[in-house]
Parts: sequence; C-alpha cells; structure tokens
Amino acid sequence: MTEEELLHAETFRDRVTTVTESGKRNWIYALKPSGRYYKYRNIVSYIYLIVFFALPFIKINDTPLFLINIIDSKFVLFGKIFWPQDFFIFAVGMISFIVFIVLFTVIYGRLFCGWVCPQTVFMEFVFRRIEWLIEGSPGRQKALNDGPWTFQKVWKKTLKHSIFLLFSFLIAHTFLAYILGIDEVVKIMGEPLAMHVGLLVGLIVFTVLFYGVFAFVREIICTTVCPYGRLQGVMFDKDTMQISYDYKRGEARGRLNKKETRTLGDCVDCHKCVMVCPTGIDIRDGVQLDCVGCTACIDACDEVMEKVGFQKGLIRYASENQIANGARFTFTPKIKAYSVLLFVLMGLMSVMIFTRKTVDTHILRVKGQLYQEVEGGKLSNLFEAKIINKTSKPIPVELKPEGIEGEIRLVGAQSLMLKEEAVNEITFFLEIPKTAIHERSNKISIGVYSNGQKIQTVKTTFLGPFK
Ligand code: SF4
Ligand code: SF4
Repeated sequence: MTEEELLHAETFRDRVTTVTESGKRNWIYALKPSGRYYKYRNIVSYIYLIVFFALPFIKINDTPLFLINIIDSKFVLFGKIFWPQDFFIFAVGMISFIVFIVLFTVIYGRLFCGWVCPQTVFMEFVFRRIEWLIEGSPGRQKALNDGPWTFQKVWKKTLKHSIFLLFSFLIAHTFLAYILGIDEVVKIMGEPLAMHVGLLVGLIVFTVLFYGVFAFVREIICTTVCPYGRLQGVMFDKDTMQISYDYKRGEARGRLNKKETRTLGDCVDCHKCVMVCPTGIDIRDGVQLDCVGCTACIDACDEVMEKVGFQKGLIRYASENQIANGARFTFTPKIKAYSVLLFVLMGLMSVMIFTRKTVDTHILRVKGQLYQEVEGGKLSNLFEAKIINKTSKPIPVELKPEGIEGEIRLVGAQSLMLKEEAVNEITFFLEIPKTAIHERSNKISIGVYSNGQKIQTVKTTFLGPFK
C-alpha cells in the first residue's frame, strides 16, 4: 500500500459512526443478528436478567444475599454483613477487582462488554427487542422515523416509549432494592409518597436517566462515555483476543461471480457484517475502540460463508498475532505478572474474610474518671465498651477479666444481649483486688465470651493509685 492509500484507508479513525459529517446524530439501524453466538448470548442474557431481578429477593437467614446500602454504610455480600470497620476488606476487594478487570481485558479484550455488560444486555435483549416488536425491522424503523407523523407513527412511538419508561422505572426500583433491601422498598411503596419525597425524586431521576440511555443515547455510552471502553486501548496488545477480521484470508475483497474462477480473497464484500453492527462500524477496517465485541458480525459473516460455500470464521475471536502470523495463544510476561498480583490479592482477601470477626469489641476507660476504692479491699475503674454485632441475630455475651483476679459489674443491666446489626454501647465497672495492682497504669485483658466460647480478647488499661 502506498502512503496515500494508507492515509485514505485510515480515515475511518477520524470520525465516529454515530455522528454525520454535518455533526448530527447518525442513528444506527442495525439488522437483527441470528446465528450460533447470538443463540448463546440469548441464553446468557436470560440468566443474567433473571439473576439481576431475583437477587434482591434472595436471603440467607433473613439477611439479603447482596445489599449495597451506601446511605447507611451497610454492605452485605453473600449474606455476610460488612461494616465501615471492615472497609480494608473492601479496599483489597476493589483492588483485586480492578486487577481482575485489567487481566481479563489483556487476555480476552471486550468479552465482558459483548456478553455481560448491563448496558449491552439491557439494550440488545430488552429495549431493542421491544423496538423490533413494535416498530418492526430496522428498515421499517427508518421509514417510520423519516416519515410524517401519521396516526400509526404516533401510537407506535407512544407505546414504545411508554414501555421503555416502564422498564426504566423497574430497573430503577431494582437498583433501589439493591441499596435499601427489598423489604424496605416494599414498605416504602405502601406508605404515602409525601413521606419519601427525596427517594421519589431519586427514583424519577434514575428512571429518566435509564430511559434516556436506552431510548436515545444507546451505543454512544459504549463508544464515548464508558471509562472502561476508553481505557481498553491501553490494555490491549497484539495477543489480546478480540473480534477480528482475517484480512489475510479475506483480502482482496470483491463480489462473488459464480461464472468466473475466483482469484480474490474470501470476503465477498456483502456488507452484512456492517449492517448488523450495533455501533455501525466496519470490522474489516481493523480493531476499533467502537467494537463492543457483540459477535453479531461473526454470525452474519458465518452465514454468508456457509451460503457461498467458503470456510466459516472469516470474522472470529482471534488476536492480531494469530491473524498476522498464525501464532498460538501464549502467556506473555504481562499476563503472568498480573496473574501473580491477582492471586496474592485474592489470597489476602480470602484470609481477611475468613478471619473477620462477627463481634468486634472496643473497650476504653471512661475519660476523666480515676480509680475508686470499694468494699472488700478492691479498686474499681469505670469502662465504656462498644460492641458491634455484625450478624443479623441477637448474641448473648459475657465479659471476663483475663490473667488477673477481678469482677465485672454492668451498669444498668444484669446480662448482655447484643442487638443484631448494631453497635451496642455499654458501661461497666471492673473491680480488682488492691493487692493485684502494682502500677499507676496497668495493662489488662478482657475476654469476650458468647455461649461459653471466647470470641475476642481486648486489651485496655486499669488505673491504680500513684506508687
Ligand atoms: S460479512 Fe463477511 S463476506 Fe460479507 S463483507 Fe463482511 S467480512 Fe466480507
Ligand atoms: S464489529 Fe462486530 S463485534 Fe464489534 S460491535 Fe460491530 S458487530 Fe459487534
């Protein structure tokens, strides 16, 4: 290729397919895909949607399986309650997640985007389906959009946008259930709206946001807005698996003429791969940021290859090296380094989750209080304890001094029953025989017991007289 030809060939990189040359929105009318991958994606999307809408209803021992209550800083993962005190586990979890995303992207490219990204799943398998059902094929949709406002156009548009709004409302409610929990959402729904104006405003904002994204913004989210999509350019290398056009086999492209012996490549230049592309790109131009890895072009091209009697896979999952050199997949040093880091972080996180306390106790001497001399030749200190019960059940606990003779007397209570999912604040006196106290400030340990089993040992100080 001459330099001039190369420059010309790369002009597609100077513009985005969603904007016309005059700067207006170029609405993409993608054909409905069909084929092997679309069938698999259908199955994945059904499972995905069932899981997404069902998860808020699933509970373990009356605790939701997942809850991300940012408002009250309460998080539940797999039925385990996490508190702000457990934030370090979240921090390690987030770092592991980011490393996982990077590693996954380095190896598998945009597999996530094409198969399980909520934007793709809802757009392709919910909203576009509704559109096809009401407005018909992309050709009919274009005719409807370009045509005058007839009665048919008005009712079709009204029906479509009403259902879009309804689904957006449903998605917003489901997100709310992930934040507040399904019981709270059901309770709020039964109460007068005036009691929850803030929440209602939030719901309306999110409903409008989802509606706007799925009804109008669409593929622009993937090609322009999504930070993960933007960052992929720096994560990809020549061994990254992506949807690739086998230009070695396909070029030189040209129409099929059954009367002549074919001297051209296998691409019959039918443009089917372009017509099904939801972002409107031509994958034959090479790897592009706008490709969301939806596999629609693979299915379209395979169908064409089958019809013309050529081998399938002209467009397929393959890395640049695989296409250019026929190279096989290898673990590059970058992949190995990310994998080691990921395993270390996952191990660290598992240890932290495994050794995480369900009852967390902090004991401090009440400020400004000195020791008291009490009956029986004892010294007494007043303490305050904050005991967090991270479970969803009340827990009976008992405090006992350890390694020293002494007695604990609770203030205002006989026994200690920790309220579930709460910080329990208690005050108690610790009485120790004078003979056991030899210093002004004495390091002591207090054991926290539940049902006869020690669950924690807390260190604190006991104040005695000056010596
Ligand atoms: S669908 Fe296949 S044969 Fe048709 S233009 Fe695309 S790559 Fe070429
Ligand atoms: S190029 Fe192919 S895989 Fe990429 S977005 Fe278009 S149709 Fe989907």
